[in-house]
Amino acid sequence: MSLLEINNLKVFAEDKEIVRGLSLTVKPGEVHVIMGQNGSGKSTLLNALAGHPKYRAEGSVKFDGKDLLAQKPHERARAGVFLAFQHPNEVSGVTLSSFLRRAYVARNGREASVAEFEKILVEKMRMLGMEHSFAERGVNEGFSGGEKKRSEILQLAVLEPRLAMLDELDSGLDVDALAKIAETLSMIRKPDTAVIIVTHYARILKNLKADRVHVMRDGQIVASGDGRLAVQLEENGYGWINSATAAP
Ligand code: ADP
Ligand code: MG
Repeated sequence: MSLLEINNLKVFAEDKEIVRGLSLTVKPGEVHVIMGQNGSGKSTLLNALAGHPKYRAEGSVKFDGKDLLAQKPHERARAGVFLAFQHPNEVSGVTLSSFLRRAYVARNGREASVAEFEKILVEKMRMLGMEHSFAERGVNEGFSGGEKKRSEILQLAVLEPRLAMLDELDSGLDVDALAKIAETLSMIRKPDTAVIIVTHYARILKNLKADRVHVMRDGQIVASGDGRLAVQLEENGYGWINSATAAP
């Protein structure tokens, strides 16, 4: 069975139709990459799937066979849908470890004592080769681009979502840092979990194998293919797809 099945999804923000009839199927274990020019609706799609209250969605989205659009954001998180924000907010005064503990409790629907959670966190950070002091910093306070991404990866490792959505995985990262993040991502993945990554660069596919690559334009998927499509896009831009698929 599919993990995520999107049929004719339309997403509106303030009555403006941003995602315009998009269909996409993701099976357990798959990695999907979404590319596309700025403003094509990639973030809106991911936000709507996570249940961001700013967006109104129409159409059919099934997650694990259940109607996702009928679920509140916390119910979606509980079901295992995770969105790492493109521009994560700084949460002053809240340490990364206490933020993660709250998210862990929300994800699992049961309390975890500080000591119990600390054990889990220490284990995950060791696995990721992270200094424990990182978790005692304020969430995103003064984080570099790379540190923000590392905190997202840590969130993923702790929450173990069934569908991880990573918006602009490459933002704020140099080539080496991006390769490292992609590598870490493939390391922490469980076999039956799925990932949707928004990125501008094909090079992450060297470190993380993608099953499908999709191109969004004007709120729709206008092309899909395997990893070679990402390479073509990085080399030739989006123009050839736009003209190849433009209405006559
Ligand atoms: P992408 O992530 O592909 O760059 P976005 O999903 O961020 O694209 O945005 C797609 C379009 O929708 C843009 O024109 C953007 O201005 C518009 N948009 C996104 N969110 C909102 C919102 N909350 N209110 C109004 N317009 C929005
Ligand atoms: Mg975006």
